[in-house]
Amino acid sequence: MTMHKDVKSALNKQITMEFHSSSIYLAMAADFFAKNLPGFGQWMLVQAGEETGHGMKIFRYVIERGETVELEAIEAPPKAWTSPLEAFRAALAHERKVSASIHALTELAREKKDHAAEIFLQWFETEQVEEEANADAVVKKLELGKDFPGTVPMLDQELGRRKKD
Ligand code: MG
Repeated sequence: MTMHKDVKSALNKQITMEFHSSSIYLAMAADFFAKNLPGFGQWMLVQAGEETGHGMKIFRYVIERGETVELEAIEAPPKAWTSPLEAFRAALAHERKVSASIHALTELAREKKDHAAEIFLQWFETEQVEEEANADAVVKKLELGKDFPGTVPMLDQELGRRKKD
């Protein structure tokens, strides 16, 4: 089934958004490594890899549908964050933006009666619930422990155990 041009365009924009997400998390990883927080850095490296995977999943889908992938410029990420809490709050806010973008894509696919694309997007809807929950869990731990000097080193140990799925 030929893809409606609006659906094709929105999927292409979503590929770029996923690569942009990857770039933001790579920048956060770099900032954490520079600040001697290798566990936070490792968590962000795994996250960046996941985002590249999301972009590639859509990339392959657009091709499978017989359409052309059109990549756009990826905006440069910030270079530094003032604290792990600020970085994770920014990550959570970003994931909420990504979720809103996926919701809009699902709505568009439905509106254009592209049932296959709508079903394809269900995986991303579910994934975004997990992405928001993951970032939110770290925000909450950092907030809860913000008055204790041991919180950041302890979380650095914990987050450093995150492995590539
Ligand atoms: Mg993603």
